[in-house]
Amino acid sequence: MTSRDAAKKRSLAYAHMRNCNLCPRMCGVNRYETTGMCLIGDKVKVNVIAPHFGEEPCIQGHNGSGAVFMSGCNLRCVFCQNYDISHRRNGMDLTPEELAEWYVKLQEVGRVHNINIVTPEHVVPQVALSILHARDLGLRLPIVYNTSSFDSLASLDLMDGLVDIYLADFKVWQAETSRRLLKADDYAATARESVRAMQAQVGDLCFTADGIAKKGLLVRHLAMPGREAEGAAIMRFLASNVSTDCFVNIMEQYRPDAHVGKKKRGRGGEGVRYDDLNRPVTDAEVSSIRKAAADAGLWRFNESPQHDGFVI
Ligand code: SF4
Repeated sequence: MTSRDAAKKRSLAYAHMRNCNLCPRMCGVNRYETTGMCLIGDKVKVNVIAPHFGEEPCIQGHNGSGAVFMSGCNLRCVFCQNYDISHRRNGMDLTPEELAEWYVKLQEVGRVHNINIVTPEHVVPQVALSILHARDLGLRLPIVYNTSSFDSLASLDLMDGLVDIYLADFKVWQAETSRRLLKADDYAATARESVRAMQAQVGDLCFTADGIAKKGLLVRHLAMPGREAEGAAIMRFLASNVSTDCFVNIMEQYRPDAHVGKKKRGRGGEGVRYDDLNRPVTDAEVSSIRKAAADAGLWRFNESPQHDGFVI
């Protein structure tokens, strides 16, 4: 990126900070003075910065992924698997410049394979400024944008040229599910548009010679209890509208968390909340999504290879 392009990105990021419509919530607030729905102002709130070994093998590699967990979120998933970080907003406030110094520390001290910004959708201008500053400080690692896909095209445009790998969730398919479980009107409509824009920017996922992700799109879907039909619809969308070579991780580690399974309060308070989600997923549910993905023509999955050779 030329210094002229970098200056344009900086100026655009500052403009967005003063009138934030950078995610589908479209709050229109000046984040130097107040906060919108995400409740995060001009500084990012960061919960954990550390080498992380809970990602896909191609992302975490041998030394870990340099994870930066952002506090807060622009979604309100009732089953949030990261409730303490995303809903409670615990953490330390950092300026983009301080954040950039942490990226360099992860590179120099942690020897990680990438900088993995987890839940960045509501802090995109700050993240853009931090990456630009970190490049000036000598950051050479790929940047991973680890998102729920509840992004706007404007924010993805701001990240264009700054992100190497989009690690994108695709959570649910139906608008009704989105309203009930994510507290957003039509998450899937936004995610469809976002994932296509990410693919247009970085293409299919590609790797270094030793199997570490270098550039491209990786889509994750967390299988949910009783929602395998939505998972199957997402797989068909990826195959027909994104790429049959799309790298996909169908995840089976769902557990009841956040508001799921908590006692109902107030009048009519018998039983637990979101009872239909109050169990792990079954093998049959996960298998049916995997089958739908293969039937649709997808073939690059996050699975162990079937050979005895070296595997990271
Ligand atoms: S990033 Fe935050 S302030 Fe900006 S539009 Fe989204 S929720 Fe509102």
